[in-house]
Amino acid sequence: MRAKLRGHHLICLQFYRGEGYNREFVENLEKVVEVAKEEGILVVDGADDVCNHCPYLVEGRCEYKEGADEEIRYLDSLATALLKVNPGETIAWREIEEKLPEVIDEWVEKACKNCDWREVCYNEVRNKS
Ligand code: SF4
Repeated sequence: MRAKLRGHHLICLQFYRGEGYNREFVENLEKVVEVAKEEGILVVDGADDVCNHCPYLVEGRCEYKEGADEEIRYLDSLATALLKVNPGETIAWREIEEKLPEVIDEWVEKACKNCDWREVCYNEVRNKS
C-alpha cells in the first residue's frame, strides 16, 4: 500500500534524517519514508500517515502552534503547486527527487525561511538549490 502524504511532507521528507517529536513519531516516520520509497505515494489533503502519529494532531488539525493548521495547509498547497501534483493523485519518491532542483529555490524562499525545523536540514536543502 502506498504512503499517504500531504503536500509539504512530499518535499520536507526528502531531507528527513531521523529527527522528530518523540520515539513513536520517529519510528512511524521511518516506516512511512520506507513505504513511500518502495511503494509510492498517494497525495492527500490534510492529516497524513505522518500526522496520524504526531502529538500535535488534534481532531484532524495541526495544533503545533497558534495558526499552524492554516500555515501548514498553505505549505501543502505551495508544495503541490510546485510539484504539479494534486491530492488524490500518486507520485513516486524518485519523481519528487527529480523535480527538486526546479522547485527548491522557491520552496526555500517561501517555506524554509519561517520553518522551526530549518536548523535540522537547511544546509542540505541549500546544497540542492
Ligand atoms: S506538526 Fe502538524 S503537520 Fe507536522 S506532523 Fe504534526 S500534525 Fe502533521
